[in-house]
Amino acid sequence: MLSFLGGSGMRRSDWKRPSRARVGRIRDRLREMYGRPLNLPHREPIDELVRTILSQATSDLNRDRAFAGLTSTFPDWEAVREAPVAAIEEAIRPGGLSNQKAPRIKVVLKEIGEEMDLDWLETADRDEAMSFLTGLPGVGRKTAACVQVFTWDRPEIPVDVHVYRVGGRLGLFRPKASSEEAHDELLALVDPGDSYEFHMNLIRHGRELCRPLPLCGECVLRRMCHYGRGVPARPAPG
Ligand code: SF4
Repeated sequence: MLSFLGGSGMRRSDWKRPSRARVGRIRDRLREMYGRPLNLPHREPIDELVRTILSQATSDLNRDRAFAGLTSTFPDWEAVREAPVAAIEEAIRPGGLSNQKAPRIKVVLKEIGEEMDLDWLETADRDEAMSFLTGLPGVGRKTAACVQVFTWDRPEIPVDVHVYRVGGRLGLFRPKASSEEAHDELLALVDPGDSYEFHMNLIRHGRELCRPLPLCGECVLRRMCHYGRGVPARPAPG
């Protein structure tokens, strides 16, 4: 039986790594549907780090409300770092889960170092940069990859819930892979120059058609999707 939450509907032992040519065809189909999104890196790593923490378990709208609350309450990140947790919590309350995120933000800002300078990450070796970021309290691979992509346009494919669901159904990584394994597989399969586009279009597809209850009958990827081929066609109306 197919899961509505993810997975390709195949057994782990039946999975075979897709060829780069096949991944290229998926990229092209997604591009036909959603275009080729352009990344505009903003070069503000601490902004991105905090914004990504604020995005955990909430919508983009709530994340933006919380971020606006922080930046309108405090003059800079040093002031946030020195503020009482209760004041940070108050500033980000509109975004939800403020009692969990406020102490996390404060601890992360303290761990960055007295100078609060992350610009060195832009030119650091990729493994060193990821290791530093994931060494910060509460910062996982997805958050670290988001900082790399949105701050400097470094090639990463952060695995969020949409990327995991759509990528799993398309068989881009093993059924029930950990998010770390999925991340590694995607990076190995996708040309670095296409990684931002691939990431953004998988998310878009996950929101528009490949939802938890997918609309496979409307999807141009169906013929190359193991999961989609297993979904019965809807009966004709009437
Ligand atoms: S056919 Fe399309 S909508 Fe259906 S599971 Fe595959 S990618 Fe998702």
